[in-house]
Amino acid sequence: MDTPGRTVVVGGGPGGMLLAYLLARAGLPVTLLERHQDFDRDFRGDSLHPWTLELLDRLGLAAALLDLPHVRARQFRFRTPRGTVTTSDYGLLDTPYDYVALMPQARFLDFLAGRAAELPSFTLRTGAAVNGLLGSGTAGDPVRGVRLRDGTEIAADLVVGTDGRFSRVRTLAGMTARSQGATTDLLWCALPHRDGDPADADVDLYFGERHYVGLIGGPGRWQVGLSLPKGGYPALREAGIGPVRREIAQRVPWLADRVDLITGFDATTLLSVDISRVPVWHRPGLLLLGDAAHVISPVGGNGILMAAQDALAAAGHLVPALRTGAPGDHVLAAVQAEREPAIVTVQDQQVRVERTVARARERGRPMTPPGFLQLLTRLPAVRRRSARRNAYGPVPVHPTPELARALGMGPAPGTGTRRT
Ligand SMILES: Cc1cc2nc3c(=O)[nH]c(=O)nc-3n(C[C@H](O)[C@H](O)[C@H](O)COP(=O)(O)OP(=O)(O)OC[C@H]3O[C@@H](n4cnc5c(N)ncnc54)[C@H](O)[C@@H]3O)c2cc1C
Repeated sequence: MDTPGRTVVVGGGPGGMLLAYLLARAGLPVTLLERHQDFDRDFRGDSLHPWTLELLDRLGLAAALLDLPHVRARQFRFRTPRGTVTTSDYGLLDTPYDYVALMPQARFLDFLAGRAAELPSFTLRTGAAVNGLLGSGTAGDPVRGVRLRDGTEIAADLVVGTDGRFSRVRTLAGMTARSQGATTDLLWCALPHRDGDPADADVDLYFGERHYVGLIGGPGRWQVGLSLPKGGYPALREAGIGPVRREIAQRVPWLADRVDLITGFDATTLLSVDISRVPVWHRPGLLLLGDAAHVISPVGGNGILMAAQDALAAAGHLVPALRTGAPGDHVLAAVQAEREPAIVTVQDQQVRVERTVARARERGRPMTPPGFLQLLTRLPAVRRRSARRNAYGPVPVHPTPELARALGMGPAPGTGTRRT
């Protein structure tokens, strides 16, 4: 009888956690290594899209997850000096999950880790930072496992690097991400909810001259992201926190009563926006997924969706292959072939947005969406199409019948098709 292949997943973000859960649920041995002691993290994206919620539903996990505190965003809006443009209306989708659930990422990861821990073939090691690969990742010497910072070696038939945008696994394997060209950085902070805050501002972008402010709701607080030109942080710091507060208050006037809670730059996090991807996501014995393979700008709020879709697509290819040992190169290549078109589409669109914003900034023009978009999005069909693309990604991933059987998945909860 064949011995199933052992997988080591490096990095317990949304991509790694979901993949490890799926492999373990299919009965395959998997060890998830996370360098931090817990999954607590701030400003890492809190959005669970309809696609993700439908997947969790089919896995029997959605109801328990949605018992945890979260906020349901039903629309995505641009707020401009000339008025509000609703670009995506999730409420028009034909699914019980016609919203984006905004929930702190740590809560989502803790939830999945708890469910994975119930599976006998799942092992989680926290405080386990990978800093070496066993094997060079060549045909004659495939990757055979990882070495932790404390010198421990863990053997594997497959190593999956889901260790994020600064992936150590990627560097160790000599793989390089090519930048697609980002022109913006973002300064993030959190401000508390107050009585009287708009009930419908959960995922909005407020446009002005030189800057835009992104707002993401969540239980009890707003995440606020202020755009700045790439490399503009030293100048911003030099000018002090006052202009940051003023810019946020000007763009989002109802936050003016609390911007003084941004006590200094210590209360903020700088996100260097990146849009990049690795040309080949795999080496013999090694596969990169999620941000480790392709960094998505947070502007569209779909980094978690892309990482989760990578995980499901990968499980579709890996589960049958791992039943009989190490997956061959062609299996790893098939994962990239399935997912790359979606990533390229999302990144190309993000690069176009980055260029438009940069041009407006250079010309000192307000960063407002074009007039035709304002007209077009008055049509529900346009708002629905945009919501659908955002909710399911440009190339939605479906579980293969074999994977669905292996995972004991239920039927799809909605068709995701149209409704007027
Ligand atoms: C400020 C900010 C805001 C964002 N906002 C959004 C948003 O609103 N919506 C959205 O969908 N996306 C958003 N994103 C993007 C989203 O967070 C990422 O795309 C997503 O988390 C990628 O998931 P991942 O599993 O690939 O990697 P990550 O979530 O980055 O997880 C990588 C994990 O690997 C661990 N790790 C790293 N190195 C090692 C090592 N050597 N050994 C072991 N473990 C290691 C890390 O500790 C981490 O837990 C945002 C990102 C940032 C930075």
